[in-house]
Amino acid sequence: MTSPVLYIVVPCYNEQEVLHETAKRLTAKLESLMAQRKISGDSRMLFVNDGSKDATWSIIEELCQENSYVCGLKLSRNKGHQNALLAGLMTAKELCDCAISMDADLQDDIEAVDGFLEKFQEGCDVVYGVRSKRDTDTFFKRSTARGFYKFMKALGVDIVEDHADYRLMSRRALESLSQFDEVNLFLRGIVPLIGYQSGIVTYERHERFAGESKYPLKKMIAFAFDGITSFSVKPIRLIATIGFVIFFVSILVLLYSLIVWLMGHTVPGWTTLAASIWLIGGIQLLCLGVIGEYIGKIYGEVKHRPRYIIETFLKQ
Ligand code: UDP
Ligand code: MG
Repeated sequence: MTSPVLYIVVPCYNEQEVLHETAKRLTAKLESLMAQRKISGDSRMLFVNDGSKDATWSIIEELCQENSYVCGLKLSRNKGHQNALLAGLMTAKELCDCAISMDADLQDDIEAVDGFLEKFQEGCDVVYGVRSKRDTDTFFKRSTARGFYKFMKALGVDIVEDHADYRLMSRRALESLSQFDEVNLFLRGIVPLIGYQSGIVTYERHERFAGESKYPLKKMIAFAFDGITSFSVKPIRLIATIGFVIFFVSILVLLYSLIVWLMGHTVPGWTTLAASIWLIGGIQLLCLGVIGEYIGKIYGEVKHRPRYIIETFLKQ
């Protein structure tokens, strides 16, 4: 079998402190894989500059000049990690047999690449890098991440636990990914939707070796919220359910207040007030839920996701 062309796609936002080292280590990795004939000599690393404000792009340009394994892609402005990643993957798609996405800070162990390639050779179209432990994360990040994955699962979203965006995708998986038109990108949720055979490689995640996280709490929350609202209409259903429950309770309140009224224990006007507050509240929530259900449908339609992806077509 011929060795596949591998592209390593690395989104970079203000990563001037780490880029030289990252390029150095990835070059060593590519060279050793090439020497073992595990990848083709046409394999490359692709740095995507996501509108950095520092010297990131000039470093990438410099690296491209002196290192033939380095390619660079420059976005016109900062579009966020997920969009930068997609831009890189869609560019690589035309040139590679498989692409691996990883962060510029090398927190993800590059030795896992061997495992990715093995799984790819075994026929996996998607290989997920999964963290074996999270002890390099802060307690806060660890527990919020745990909670987030649990919550996503509870909402019925197919998501691989402890997998960030360190993964390999084959060319045809990338082709399929390109059919997803949505603007609110949450790749961790989309990739499992593509299907095909997938595999998992576990690795240990290191500390960022220089620079600081480009994911402050605010971005992390926005990202999690995007993940939830892009993949589940269950929150909308919840409104309808609450409405239904309150509507039911209002009937009980109505009965109760009628009884109290009949027994003559009430201040004039209380019965109608008490009963109507519950009734109106319940009906309003129920109606909101119904409207929400339609909005959920509209949301699904506007995302314009492919309805199916064909894996093989046999014909004599
Ligand atoms: N990143 C990006 N655009 C952004 C924010 C981050 O391309 O707007 C890149 C960043 O350069 C890095 C990756 O996304 O390669 C992950 O970011 P980071 O390592 O800061 O996140 P953390 O590991 O702390 O979650
Ligand atoms: Mg990082």
